[in-house]
Amino acid sequence: MLHYVYLRLHLKHLWEFGMTKRQLNLNYLVIICGFWNKNLPMDDAYKSKDVIAAPIRVIQLVYNAGDVKGPQTVAFNLPNDELIVKDRGTSMVMLKNVSEAKYSSISFKFKHILQPIAEVCVKEEQQKLVDFDSFFTHTICHECCHGIGPHTIRLPDGRESTVRLELQELHSALEEAKADIVGLWALKFLIGQVIILSNDSISLLSSHHSVHGVQDLLSKSLLKSMYVSFLAGCFRSIRFGLEEAHGKGQALQFNWLFEKEAFILHSDDTFSVDFAKVEGAVESLSREILTIQARGDKEAASLLLQKYCKMTKPLMVALQKLEDIQKVDEMCFA
Ligand SMILES: [Zn+2]
Repeated sequence: MLHYVYLRLHLKHLWEFGMTKRQLNLNYLVIICGFWNKNLPMDDAYKSKDVIAAPIRVIQLVYNAGDVKGPQTVAFNLPNDELIVKDRGTSMVMLKNVSEAKYSSISFKFKHILQPIAEVCVKEEQQKLVDFDSFFTHTICHECCHGIGPHTIRLPDGRESTVRLELQELHSALEEAKADIVGLWALKFLIGQVIILSNDSISLLSSHHSVHGVQDLLSKSLLKSMYVSFLAGCFRSIRFGLEEAHGKGQALQFNWLFEKEAFILHSDDTFSVDFAKVEGAVESLSREILTIQARGDKEAASLLLQKYCKMTKPLMVALQKLEDIQKVDEMCFA
């Protein structure tokens, strides 16, 4: 049973019941989350030392009820309450059949959401890079990244607090942007690493180590696909407006990456990714958001959102072109 309750604010957000069948255990990702947390692009002084790795499972959703009208989630990372997170960690669950139904390249809906967006908005030579594997892998990383980085924080005056309590109404948009952008950073971090499995433990080594029997953790070809799929995904979320946390978070990321010339607008009104610049832009935005969260700096959060969460000209160019695409699906939150 999923029960999203903001206990400390005594504010019930929504409730949802889900009956699920466990399919696959991805507990090795727990250890990878630990590596990510240790290596996050932020000052070491801000890094959480008490992040508790959580189990990650891929399941089939059998039945759900409650406040489930509207967008169907494909993954969740609960609980939200930082006291419980600090004590017990979070648990991340991927709903594989829901995700496949919505986004698989063989499904009707995938073909009618991300593919048409790519065909209209992404420069022709990069369109083939938009694929389901990249999308699904980034969704997993998005959920993992909700669980890492600052949660319980120490304020400059010595008080202990939480990111949610300090950033208040700005928290959701910034947290969604964090999960997305740090999710991209995290995938890049894994590429070039190798995974060593021995009994129940794993470890990661840089790929320049020559170790017998190891394999690339993630295919390097996934990296380009991931950035271009992310570009198409930006338009998918933003066309539903900038009033909601996911849309706001996505606009922040798109406009930041565009400003850093990681996304390029061409004369035919299509976009492409500059692979030489995107890595640095993803890292700089990850650092910006993580640092604001670690400081609980609401003023900086407000300035960042004011500057980047707006309908800029390149976004309007893309959205104008997307008006012709039939809306066959509601927005899918991750
Ligand atoms: Zn999320």
